[in-house]
Amino acid sequence: MTPEHADIVVVGAGPAGLAAAASLAGRGMHRILVVDRDDEAGGLPRFCHHPGFGWEYTHRLESGPGLVRRLLRALDPGIITIAIRTSALAVRPGPEIDIVGIECGHVRVRPRVVVLATGIRERPRSARLVPGRRPAEGILTTGQLQQMVARGVPVKGRRAVVVGTEHVAFSILLTARHAGLEIMAMVGAEDRVMSYAGAGLAARFLMGVPIHLSSKIEDIHGSERVESVTLCGPAGTRTIPCDTVIFSGDFIPDAALLPGSGIDIARVTAGPSVDQFGRTSAVGVFAAGNLLRAVETSGLAAIEGARVGTNVAAYLEGMLGWPRDAASIRVGDGLSYVVPQYWAPSAGLGGAVQALPVSLRALADIRRARLSLSEDGQAIWTGHPTKTLRHRRLALPAAALDRLRGGDIALRIDPA
Ligand SMILES: Cc1cc2nc3c(=O)[nH]c(=O)nc-3n(C[C@H](O)[C@H](O)[C@H](O)COP(=O)(O)OP(=O)(O)OC[C@H]3O[C@@H](n4cnc5c(N)ncnc54)[C@H](O)[C@@H]3O)c2cc1C
Repeated sequence: MTPEHADIVVVGAGPAGLAAAASLAGRGMHRILVVDRDDEAGGLPRFCHHPGFGWEYTHRLESGPGLVRRLLRALDPGIITIAIRTSALAVRPGPEIDIVGIECGHVRVRPRVVVLATGIRERPRSARLVPGRRPAEGILTTGQLQQMVARGVPVKGRRAVVVGTEHVAFSILLTARHAGLEIMAMVGAEDRVMSYAGAGLAARFLMGVPIHLSSKIEDIHGSERVESVTLCGPAGTRTIPCDTVIFSGDFIPDAALLPGSGIDIARVTAGPSVDQFGRTSAVGVFAAGNLLRAVETSGLAAIEGARVGTNVAAYLEGMLGWPRDAASIRVGDGLSYVVPQYWAPSAGLGGAVQALPVSLRALADIRRARLSLSEDGQAIWTGHPTKTLRHRRLALPAAALDRLRGGDIALRIDPA
């Protein structure tokens, strides 16, 4: 199928895009084109060879490439065309999409639906305001190291410092070790490890990696290549010899296609704002996966993709439409963001649609906190008191949201 004949264009062949395509085909949709600018389908997981990918979606312990193989096996090439080395350049109202690819050249396509699943990108060090010199070699982001290792590009360094302590930082610890780097230290600005406590314990005691918390990089030394870093923390300043610094954790949605598309961008997440069906503010354009917010697991991204696929089918069958007729969900003090940002009444739609799982974040760690949901000032649901950790997803049962009827919706978190 050539791009001009596509009914549905999915941008991004990561877990979200591939799961969306599979679910669309499963609902009887045809002429589905998935484009990806990379030279293989699979998105970020294809660069991560350690296990822990896709669990929520497949309920299997798989590596990143294992998950990708599973997702690709589910696609019927007679119905779904995957065009690699093919980039979406612009999305405009219509929807209309400009695509440039190694096989198709530069084409303008007017499909009935566009599904955006472009994932995340990392902010470079320059955007993170890290002080110190700018040695020509030895400063990497997790994404760069991941790709070098996966593509067999030799990593020149021997001793690395990892900046960040969230899930991805621990994932890159394994990748760095695999590449032959000795990890001299992990450095975190926060007063605790931002990933699971067990990850910190395993790094410290099984891998012998010192973790410096409440600490920041004050200086990076070296001219040709990194020679050391100076940290500033509760124990004062200390200089750690190393030839590589790996920056992790500063991810933002890859929202390059949003300007000019007619899609509203959410202020905090910097991704498109969507309703529970994945509908953006632009007619015929849906979004799924980490583009919605940085960063959740590959399993969650795949679930979102699959559900958006179902909802696209409902749209094409005339059951969902635009304008979205959805009320915005206000997040009160103590909460950072909620995705989806809008909730539409769904009475009568039954199993034809599937709501996205809710991604919700608190701004601070609270030992015992209670999450509550109200509509027009009336309590709809109140959670059990539980420990909340900032940067960790908070659970909100779908059943609570199903009771909403389109009024003024508010979420808040209070110490219990
Ligand atoms: C270092 C690291 C470690 C991780 N470890 C884990 C882990 O252990 N377990 C886990 O579950 N998750 C992990 N994750 C998270 C996981 O990778 C993501 O949740 C998942 O990849 C999100 O899927 P996605 O489809 O939304 O986006 P992605 O996988 O990022 O896929 C997006 C795709 O869109 C393509 N694209 C973007 N823009 C365009 C365009 N304009 N035109 C065409 N194509 C485009 C990209 O090439 C890419 O292939 C990790 C992430 C990182 C960075």
